[in-house]
Amino acid sequence: MTLAAGHPILAIPGPSPVPDRVLRAAHRPSPDIYGDDLAAVNHDLIARLKWVAGTDAHVAPYIGNGHAGWEAAAANLFSRGDAVLVLVSGYFGTLWAAHLAGMGLAVETMDCAGTALDPARLADRLARDDGSIRAVMVCQTDTATGVRSDVTAIRAAMGDHPALLVVDAIAALGCAPMQMDAWGVDVVIAASQKGLMSPPGTAFVWFSDRAAQAGAGAGLRTPYWDWGARAQAQALWQFWGGTPPVQQIFALREALTMIAEETLPTRWARHEALARATWAAFDAWGQGNPAIALAVADAGARAPSVTAAHVPGAEALRAYTATQMGVTLGIGIGADPATALRVAHMGHCNAAMLLATLGAMQTAMAALGIAHGPGAIEAACAALARHGLSSL
Ligand SMILES: *Cc1c(COP(=O)(O)O)cnc(C)c1O
Repeated sequence: MTLAAGHPILAIPGPSPVPDRVLRAAHRPSPDIYGDDLAAVNHDLIARLKWVAGTDAHVAPYIGNGHAGWEAAAANLFSRGDAVLVLVSGYFGTLWAAHLAGMGLAVETMDCAGTALDPARLADRLARDDGSIRAVMVCQTDTATGVRSDVTAIRAAMGDHPALLVVDAIAALGCAPMQMDAWGVDVVIAASQKGLMSPPGTAFVWFSDRAAQAGAGAGLRTPYWDWGARAQAQALWQFWGGTPPVQQIFALREALTMIAEETLPTRWARHEALARATWAAFDAWGQGNPAIALAVADAGARAPSVTAAHVPGAEALRAYTATQMGVTLGIGIGADPATALRVAHMGHCNAAMLLATLGAMQTAMAALGIAHGPGAIEAACAALARHGLSSL
């Protein structure tokens, strides 16, 4: 027997659940792409994209996924052989570093061993640099470990070193604060399918004037990736380097409208509350089984949008929640999927969806005989209730 029929819950860290409003906004035939109506929607989208990243500077949109965002940013900033320093707090940092090396950069990594960087380490490394490091690059949220990097602390640690600060905010934007201009971030990279609650297929690179100047002679730049043409665009096709992704534009505009309606501070607080409830559940489960543990011990270094954990029998547990309960959990990556999994509380996820996810996990543990401490759901409810009081 299976109890999975009903509204499915997707708790993987991207693509994240797409709200019905966003799907409906996309569900339309293509209009005249030379018409004024679509151009106006696109202009509104571009303005909202700058708002969500906290910048008045530039944004270049691309058809592509997060990897396309990585490539776009690097192509506009660097020449072959340029030195960059990637702060690695999980497998996404490792992948990014490999991607940059594949583009011909001289990549140095600073391994933060699955937690947040100690800013003093970065300050120390940059103090010994002869000026050759062109950029410091970091994932704000590493989606594999669920580590949150403190972007303002990293900026402060960079002091007056001239390197650019490039932030992969793919798993953070719309879930955690990003104040690109106020924080002194030079480049932000994000994509549509995570905190921005839209179908996969579009990526964005925001860049400061300083980044534009630093990248002026970038040898890796090619016409398709050139951010200048897109950021200065007037005609619709120029924004997108060709045919615009019409239905995506409508979807994204609707998603950003929803984000504005909720307000960014409420959204950030919601993600924080859902994350804390998730951690509370894992702490209770772990009380009865030391093999159940969050991947990041330091709560201050945990991301608000995704939680990674060690759970014995994780593969069987995920299979059980998917086939028996209608809940899809994230696979452990950069870790052994047999004993690691991820719970996303990203984007379009409310308290009820999270409790259902945690309840499905506890049901699976009971059914599969995975030892676990009691009181996890109560602890999650209590964490949510505390949030409710504090935000009244
Ligand atoms: C998802 C993700 C990526 C890769 O995005 P794709 O859309 O899968 O190419 C890169 N960095 C981070 C932090 C991510 O979460």
